[in-house]
Amino acid sequence: MKRFLWWGLSLCLYMGLQTMLFAQSNLPISSSQQPLKYRIAFIDPRFQLTKEQFMEVSQQAAEIWQTETGKTYFTYDSEAQLSINLIYDDHQIIKNEQQNSLNTLLQKQEQWSLKNEEIVLNKQEISQLSSDLNKKKISLRAEFEQYQRDVTRFNQGEHQYYRADELKERQKQLEQKSENIKNESNDLNFKIQLLNLKIKELNQEQSDLAALKTQFKLEQKISIEPFHKGLFSQNQIQIYGYTSLNDLRLTLAHEFGHALGLKHTTDPKSLMYPLLKEQDIHNFKLTNSDLELLGSIYSSIKENH
Ligand SMILES: [Zn+2]
Repeated sequence: MKRFLWWGLSLCLYMGLQTMLFAQSNLPISSSQQPLKYRIAFIDPRFQLTKEQFMEVSQQAAEIWQTETGKTYFTYDSEAQLSINLIYDDHQIIKNEQQNSLNTLLQKQEQWSLKNEEIVLNKQEISQLSSDLNKKKISLRAEFEQYQRDVTRFNQGEHQYYRADELKERQKQLEQKSENIKNESNDLNFKIQLLNLKIKELNQEQSDLAALKTQFKLEQKISIEPFHKGLFSQNQIQIYGYTSLNDLRLTLAHEFGHALGLKHTTDPKSLMYPLLKEQDIHNFKLTNSDLELLGSIYSSIKENH
């Protein structure tokens, strides 16, 4: 099975020769000046598009040809030969898979960023705690040194300044402070260990993410073969995919152009350009190059008759 996927890039597979023959041999509008009749034959339910919606879009596509020319080129007829079909096949499956893996990737990236932010805050908190603890240690050391000096004096007999029970009380307090600092220090070490674990996890996730990204790019590369969203061949317009109703409308209008016997233009803003990319997708009007193409077909037909 052929795999095409080049979403949003390649508008249509144009079968130039076949279409030209068709345009000159049995194109209803060229011989009778009657509008080309079309019908909607098949809509794959996986597109989740109702027939009414598709009818409306196809009417809008037909109006694109009418607005600038004042002529009705296309008209709906449930008995028409020209059928339009919305075909769901592996184009859409591949595209959905790719969209899903892209969503997963973006989600994982978002989660990673949140974790990273949390870790940055955590680091700041730990560094604040560590600096507070250091200050407490310095202050305790100073108190302890003072205490030792006072004990020395006491032992040298300066009993008028220092009482034994006072010194004992100070010793108890210092021991308590020292115990507190030890506990805080243990807490802090535990927090640092946890943080290091989180950082290790985060780094692992980052390399997993990088691997996923590489894989995703690889998958995209493999699937970059031209994917044609639309195809016109004798009596049939097949639409294989679209990204929005505006996209569908223009894709259909483009295939309508082929059904009239038109070839491709070289003007990227025109409807009959092979890629749908630079056109004004929301408010499209036929360009001069589209109209010239239309004019050349109809004047050559007039000359022949
Ligand atoms: Zn085309």
